[in-house]
Amino acid sequence: MEITVGVLALQGAFYEHLQLLKKAVEVLDSSDQWQFIQVRTTEELSRCDALIIPGGESTAIALVAARSGLLEPLRDFVKVHRKPTWGTCAGLILLAESANRTKQGGQELIGGLDVRVNRNHFGRQTESFQTPLTLDFLADDASGPPAPFNGVFIRAPVVEKILPHQAGKSQRDDCETVVAPSHPVQDQNQDTSADKDRSVEVLAKLPGRAARLTEQTGVTIDTEKDAGDIVAVKQGNVFGTSFHPELTDDPRIHLWWLRQVRDAVHKRSGAAQLPVR
Ligand code: GLN
Repeated sequence: MEITVGVLALQGAFYEHLQLLKKAVEVLDSSDQWQFIQVRTTEELSRCDALIIPGGESTAIALVAARSGLLEPLRDFVKVHRKPTWGTCAGLILLAESANRTKQGGQELIGGLDVRVNRNHFGRQTESFQTPLTLDFLADDASGPPAPFNGVFIRAPVVEKILPHQAGKSQRDDCETVVAPSHPVQDQNQDTSADKDRSVEVLAKLPGRAARLTEQTGVTIDTEKDAGDIVAVKQGNVFGTSFHPELTDDPRIHLWWLRQVRDAVHKRSGAAQLPVR
């Protein structure tokens, strides 16, 4: 099959994502023909089977997307067609249904993940950091637990709350947040059966302060009250990470995600060929 993966190229680290996609596809066991494209227009978006929204500045990306007439098509892509979409850092913010600490006057979101994110959770640019992450979802049965992944956090958000899933309704809660507009109806022509289980899975946490101290000092501290920050989530075909895998040279998450994309695209095309009853 031909599979086209787009990277939203309005602002931010889109070039770096394209480089890692190319690196990942070299080791992907796939007979499909992969194409990676930059997306700046609705026409380019319409050619995509899957999309990455890079890190950068969520307010800037949203602004340019709105000016380019891309906001609604992006919402359709993620929330109606449920095509595989991955957001990193600013991309995660845009894919959240709800966000805290937004720009004065609010900011537009795309939505798709039933979560509320807290922007700039760790502080300003100077409080940016790198830390090894344990990403169990990268484990492959043959070679045991995966080596730690270098998590690059730059003015990063975290998922501070998982919201109850309400298909087709905006998530409102008691905090001062902006909320992504929603789409009330599913596209009848799309097979979304692969994406039926819509609960939010937490795929990675950054160890909390107590756990980090335990690691550093060897002294066991009760970590329950300090369970850590959620830094990777997946809900159906929508995936988000607080950190920037594209700013490393480690293609493992890209490789994992391309496998998810391949499975989703094959499933969809298989379903499309089933006779209609
Ligand atoms: N803090 C940025 C925002 O709100 C995200 C930073 C990043 O993508 N590195 O959009």
